[in-house]
Amino acid sequence: MKVMKFGGVSLGTSEGINKVKNIIGDEAQPVIIVVSALYGVTEQLLQAADYAVSANKKYELIFDTLQNQHYKIIEETIDSQDVKLNLYEEIQLLFEDLKNILRGVYLIGDLSQKSSDKIVSYGEKFSSLILSKIIPNAQLYDSTEFIKTTKQFNKHIPDIPLSNKLIKEHLQNTRNVAIVPGFIATSRDEDDITNLGRGGSDYTASIIAAALDASVLEIWTDVDGFMTADPKIIQSAYVIEELSYIEAIELSNFGAKVIYPPTIFPVYHKNIPIRVRNSFNPSSKGTLI
Ligand code: ADP
Ligand code: ASP
Ligand code: MG
Repeated sequence: MKVMKFGGVSLGTSEGINKVKNIIGDEAQPVIIVVSALYGVTEQLLQAADYAVSANKKYELIFDTLQNQHYKIIEETIDSQDVKLNLYEEIQLLFEDLKNILRGVYLIGDLSQKSSDKIVSYGEKFSSLILSKIIPNAQLYDSTEFIKTTKQFNKHIPDIPLSNKLIKEHLQNTRNVAIVPGFIATSRDEDDITNLGRGGSDYTASIIAAALDASVLEIWTDVDGFMTADPKIIQSAYVIEELSYIEAIELSNFGAKVIYPPTIFPVYHKNIPIRVRNSFNPSSKGTLI
């Protein structure tokens, strides 16, 4: 079984999302699809929380923009009126909760880590719900039920043994296309919403791939693979066809944002290859790690 992760840069527009739909449609099932929030959404959620805690009403503008961004994608990608109505009902409940939480932060003027983690979790909740209605044969899974974290030096880190056990329980018998929100988790002891850190959807996908002994972990993004430098900064950067796990760890630790550094470890221990691929250019082979 394959695990495929699609990042926010692949999920920015309806054109991008339709490309993702075609890529998934070409896959043999079962397949596990891990998704990030739509492009820019995590940043906007954090900005809204910042405004709210500073008693700045601009948080409401951000909320409206986010809602419109998601509704636009729904309008442009889903034809069936029934599916759309059902999706609007579900997603409206999520947006109402988010609005209430932001209003609470605004009124009290307090933003704890717990509240911030809760607010930022909506990005992946929205995107996974929408994708589960766009992709044929898809079933939505809630990763907060099986990605568990524990606290170390004030930071949430995954509890790998517990997560492995729960991932197997939830996902082992997947038949079709499992859609799983990346990044978000819950704390082992308190069951509070937590996350794996910025860029953490890659890590979710890797933990799942290792737990299920996947044949490959595919990281789909907006560049043709792991490159010698960030192509947005260095124009002469070129794609590296193959990397060892150690080389990939070094490059990502030195800031190659294309993979979140801890991602390499779970699959490395199981000797599962990673392929970095471009959802806007699926005919390119990408990088094999
Ligand atoms: P995603 O939303 O798919 O997770 P990211 O923005 O996290 O995407 O990562 C992809 C981006 O990483 C690329 O658009 C590119 O600008 C940047 N990047 C930085 N360093 C590298 C590198 N060495 N190779 C490829 N891309 C890189
Ligand atoms: N949406 C989260 C972030 O922007 C996680 C991810 O994209 O991997 O950091
Ligand atoms: Mg990323």
